[in-house]
Amino acid sequence: MNIIVGKNSGFCAGVKHTIDKANDELEKYGGPLDCLGEIIHNKQVVESLENRGLRTIDSIEDAEDKVLIRAHGVSKSVYEYADRNNIRLIDLTCPKVLKIHNQVEDFAKKNYFIFLFGIKNHPETIGTYSFCGVNSYVIESKDDVSPALNLLYSSNLRDVLIISQTTFSLSLFNELSELIMNSLDSTYNIHVEKSICNATSLRQIETEEIAAKVDLMIIIGGKNSSNTKKLCDVASKYCKHVIHIETKDDLSLESVRNFSNIGIMAGASTPRIYH
Ligand code: SF4
Repeated sequence: MNIIVGKNSGFCAGVKHTIDKANDELEKYGGPLDCLGEIIHNKQVVESLENRGLRTIDSIEDAEDKVLIRAHGVSKSVYEYADRNNIRLIDLTCPKVLKIHNQVEDFAKKNYFIFLFGIKNHPETIGTYSFCGVNSYVIESKDDVSPALNLLYSSNLRDVLIISQTTFSLSLFNELSELIMNSLDSTYNIHVEKSICNATSLRQIETEEIAAKVDLMIIIGGKNSSNTKKLCDVASKYCKHVIHIETKDDLSLESVRNFSNIGIMAGASTPRIYH
């Protein structure tokens, strides 16, 4: 049996920084330590930190004193609420996500209409969208392009920014931006910001390469992790058999025994011990 393990598997720098910092805080001060939303989309990691005192809260209004902001980032209203109520934030928003917040805010101030590509209910997209202002639209699929263009036309703005969630699909980014650019005439000034994180695009490209060489692709990561689900979609285009697992307990040896070439890739929120 030949097994290829992706070199770009597992924790990205942003997630690693968040988990290291949460561990440091719990070691120095103990719990409880509030975290706004699940610290990462990985049930096993969340449970192990919660056992040491991390408390997942759904709203900043449930915060007691000190709140950890995870790598996905949060909405502008969270910063405003914390400021008004003297809540201390340990802001672990990934610097790459913070950069996007600043960019969309700057472009909105310059009267650009913003097309934000992202999964609509993903915390990163919700956070980024809050910095975009009213002249903006979240595009998750081709179906959103037409209503987004209608909103642009009704705004009468001529400057356009195309930007995305850091873990958005690279191929969908290219497809959607081409669709928008082909729909707008030369009176529009279009700025395309390739904001997909390098860690994400490298992982997606390597997944394609491995999936094309093997008979079975195993993708490891949280069932609720958007970037892991995207790896499954990418792998499915090149390999007939794709299995998504969270831990080794989800994998039966029977299901892999008949394959001679197997590829393994893990999402950005999967620690090394699971792959
Ligand atoms: S995928 Fe990239 S942008 Fe997102 S948290 Fe990781 S390093 Fe940061």
